[in-house]
Amino acid sequence: MIETNCSLKAFNTFSIDATAHILFHLSDLTQLAELSALVKKMRVQNKPILILGAGSNILFCDDFSGLIIKVELLGISIETTENDYILQVGAGENWHDLVTYCIDNDMGGLENLALIPGVVGAAPVQNIGAYGSEFKDFCVALEYLDLDTGKLHKVSNAQCQFAYRDSIFKQANMRSALITQVTLKLAKQWQPKQRNASLSDALDVSAKSIYQSICQVRAEKLPDPSELGNAGSFFKNPVVKKEVADKLRAENPNMPYYPQDAEHVKLAAGWLIEKADLKGRQIGGAAVHKKQALVLINKGNASAQDVIKLAELVRQSIKDKFNIELQHEVRFMDKLGETDLARAIQNV
Ligand SMILES: Cc1cc2nc3c(=O)[nH]c(=O)nc-3n(C[C@H](O)[C@H](O)[C@H](O)COP(=O)(O)OP(=O)(O)OC[C@H]3O[C@@H](n4cnc5c(N)ncnc54)[C@H](O)[C@@H]3O)c2cc1C
Repeated sequence: MIETNCSLKAFNTFSIDATAHILFHLSDLTQLAELSALVKKMRVQNKPILILGAGSNILFCDDFSGLIIKVELLGISIETTENDYILQVGAGENWHDLVTYCIDNDMGGLENLALIPGVVGAAPVQNIGAYGSEFKDFCVALEYLDLDTGKLHKVSNAQCQFAYRDSIFKQANMRSALITQVTLKLAKQWQPKQRNASLSDALDVSAKSIYQSICQVRAEKLPDPSELGNAGSFFKNPVVKKEVADKLRAENPNMPYYPQDAEHVKLAAGWLIEKADLKGRQIGGAAVHKKQALVLINKGNASAQDVIKLAELVRQSIKDKFNIELQHEVRFMDKLGETDLARAIQNV
């Protein structure tokens, strides 16, 4: 189905009221010929193309002047080998529903990644992660469609170059890669992943109980986008030189401190924002969430400009107070395609 000049408010969890010039709902690979023709037309007209999942990691800074392809490819198939369950999952399946389905069918492994919004096809893009698990821990391979050639390709886990909130799909030369299906492997011999201090000590260790605890903790900590627009963690946790982290820790002994290797330490962006006294800070309809400083929220009528100004205030405050440059995790999209905070702030 194709829509024109369509509102994106229902298609991004920030609930920003932007429009898409053309919105293509891709629900079946039999639509490929029609999609290819449209992609060619966009390329000739020099119009941007955006692949969209559930819009839970995107800030629409403006109306989008080109083609948005909303990935709605469904289907789950399971193969059982001696030691593992091998799942082939359509890119349009809801991620949390997949986790729930696995737990309900005694296939543990994904429980730490419960309640992360979005669809399966977006999970590899930033290698979603929570509570010590990442998408990469379960991904065997995935299939993508090259929008420019119309050809399907299969890539292995190693070829995806997964890293902290990163993969090959974030690179500029992979912007035409539309993930259609992922292959996951869940071990029959289930092992719990690293626990998190915010989970109950009395945790009864089964995949289901961990799943339930994580759902409970996340529901208490994070605002539900259906009630309060947001895109989850707005900034990435910064990885800094050990000397920088040690100096800060000497001044703030309770500061979260996660060594990455001998020379680098990951800090908690939410802690830095809270320490800069920004919890609850508001610009227009956008605010720093009072319960979780890493989340910027739409209090109901925020414009994209409100969110951009608030993000810049946070970035600048952390730079001034700690001399640390925060990078945003949320993807910024303007009229012509992907942009970033530095460029977006010039236009508000
Ligand atoms: C309340 C809340 C909590 C969150 N918690 C976490 C968390 O704990 N951990 C975490 O990692 N993230 C978290 N997020 C961020 C977000 O849920 C993830 O990034 C998720 O994977 C985005 O999925 P989506 O379908 O909404 O993608 P979208 O926002 O629609 O797209 C994100 C990016 O992926 C690209 N993309 C989407 N689908 C495809 C595809 N099929 N092929 C190629 N590219 C594609 C888009 O072009 C875009 O660049 C949270 C968000 C919210 C709102």
